[in-house]
Amino acid sequence: RTHLVWLRNDLRVNDNLALNAACRDAEAKVIALYIATPGQWRQHDMAPKQAAFIYDSLLELQQALADRGIELVTQACDDFAASLDILSTFCEQQQVDALFYNYQYELNERQRDAEAEKRLDKAGVVCQGFDDSLLLPPGSVQTGDGKMYKVYTPFSKAFVRRLQLAMPACVAAPKARSGGALKSPDAPQRFDYPMEEYDRERFPPGESAALQRLRHFAQQPIRDYHQQRDTPSVDGTSRLSVYLATGVLSPRQCLHRVLKEHPRALEESTLFSWLNELIWREFYRHLMVAYPALCRHQPFVGWTRRVDWQRNEAHFAAWQAGKTGYPIVDAAMRQMNALGWMHNRLRMITASFLVKDLLIDWHEGERYFMQKLIDGDLAANNGGWQWAASTGVDPVPYFRIFNPTTQGERFDKQGAFIRQWLPELKEVPDSDIHQPQRWAEKNHKKLDYPAPIVEHKQARKKTLDAFERAKNAA
Ligand code: FAD
Repeated sequence: RTHLVWLRNDLRVNDNLALNAACRDAEAKVIALYIATPGQWRQHDMAPKQAAFIYDSLLELQQALADRGIELVTQACDDFAASLDILSTFCEQQQVDALFYNYQYELNERQRDAEAEKRLDKAGVVCQGFDDSLLLPPGSVQTGDGKMYKVYTPFSKAFVRRLQLAMPACVAAPKARSGGALKSPDAPQRFDYPMEEYDRERFPPGESAALQRLRHFAQQPIRDYHQQRDTPSVDGTSRLSVYLATGVLSPRQCLHRVLKEHPRALEESTLFSWLNELIWREFYRHLMVAYPALCRHQPFVGWTRRVDWQRNEAHFAAWQAGKTGYPIVDAAMRQMNALGWMHNRLRMITASFLVKDLLIDWHEGERYFMQKLIDGDLAANNGGWQWAASTGVDPVPYFRIFNPTTQGERFDKQGAFIRQWLPELKEVPDSDIHQPQRWAEKNHKKLDYPAPIVEHKQARKKTLDAFERAKNAA
C-alpha cells in the first residue's frame, strides 16, 4: 500500500495529524508531497520573506522526513487549479491508495481540497482530511442556539470550557519506517517567487527552532507576558506567529507545553492572557468558516461598505514608508518593512491610523501587511484589520479613535522603541519624542523628519462624519 501525505501549511513532523495517520500502518509505503504555487501566492499577496521562510523550513522538514525513511517530493506549478493536476498525476504514477492531508480553512483552499477529493475519489484513492491547525475544529464552539459567536469574550469562555472537557491531544512524530533512513536528499528547487532574506536570529526557520522558542517562552517569559505584551520596546511576546502561520508549530503543542510548565494556566488569569491570544487566533479562523465572505475581504458590518474612503496616494505612500510625522506610527511601519514582523499593539495603532486618521480603505492596509509580514495569515490579518476599521465581528466601535500621539506616550513613554527605528530623532529629548516637530521649532533645530501629514483632531472629525453618513444612509 502507498500512502501520500499532501503537505501544505503543516511543515512539521511532530504533532502532524495527517502525517501521523499516514504512518500508522507500518507496512505502507509513505511519501510526502509539497506543491509550490507561486501564481496563487501572488494572488494571495504572500510576503517574499514568508516565501523564503517556508522554503528554509521545508529544507529541515525534508531532512526530518528522510531520517524517518519518508521521501518529500516537491513540485511546482502556477496555481491551485494546476496543483490538482500534479496531485492526480502523482497519485496515478505512484499508485497511491490513500491521501492524508490537513485542512486549510480559507475559501480558495477549501474549494481546491473539495475538488481534489472529488477527483481522487473517482480514481479510487481514499482521502482523509484532519482538523490540525486549530485547537478545536470550526463549528465545534457555538452558542446555545447552534450559531457561531459574534462576540469574542463568550466565545473564549465557551472555548475554555470545551478544552477542559476534552483536551485535544498531541500526536507523536512518526517513527522511522522499516526501510530505515533515506540518504540525504537534494534540496528542493527554489521557488519561482520573490524571496527576501529575513532575520534568521529572530525567526530561525524550521521545527526545532520553533520548539526551542516555545520551550523557552513557556518556562519564564510567559509569566510576565500580561505586563509586557503592550510594550513594543521589550521582547515580551512569544514571536511564534510565523511558526503558527506556516504550520511549523501547532497550537496543540503550544497549549500542552504551557500546561506542562504551568498546570493551572487555563485558570490563572496572568498565564491565561497568553493562551487567550491563541484563542483569538481560533476565533478568527472559526469565523472564516462560518462567514466565508470574510475570505473575500467583505466587511462583516454591511453599512461600512458605504464609507466614502479617501484616495490619497501620497498619504498611503507616507504610511507605507513610515513618514507620516507621527513617530510611533512611523517606527512601527519601519519595523515591519525591515523585519516582516510588527508588535501587536503597533499593528493596532498603524491600522487605526490608516483607516481613522487618513480615511484610507482598510483593504489597502490589509493587503500591504500581507505583502510584508513573515507571519501573514489571512484570518488573523483580516480579523485584525476589520477590528481596527470597525467593520468586523466584535470590532472597536467606529467612534473610538486612537490618538496616535497619546498611544505613543502610553506604550512607548520614553521613546525607546521609536529611537530604535527613527535614528533621525536621536537628538530629541524623551519629553518631546512624541512631538518632535514642536521641539525642533522651539529650539530652532532642523529635523530630517516630516511634519504630521494630517492633524489628528480634524482627521478624527472627518472620519466620524464619514462613518456616520455611511451608517445613516439607508
Ligand atoms: P503573541 O502575543 O506571543 O501571541 C501568541 C500567538 O497568538 C501569536 O503567535 C498568534 O498566532 C496568536 N495571536 C496573537 N494575537 C492575535 C490576534 N489578535 N489575532 C489572531 N491571532 C493572534 N497575526 C498573524 O499571525 N498574522 C497576521 O497576518 C496578523 N495580522 C494582524 C493585523 C492587524 C491589523 C492586527 C491588529 C493583528 C494582526 N495579527 C496577525 C495578530 C497579532 O498582531 C500577531 O499574531 C502577533 O503580533 C504576533 O506576535 P507574537 O507571536 O509575538 O504574539
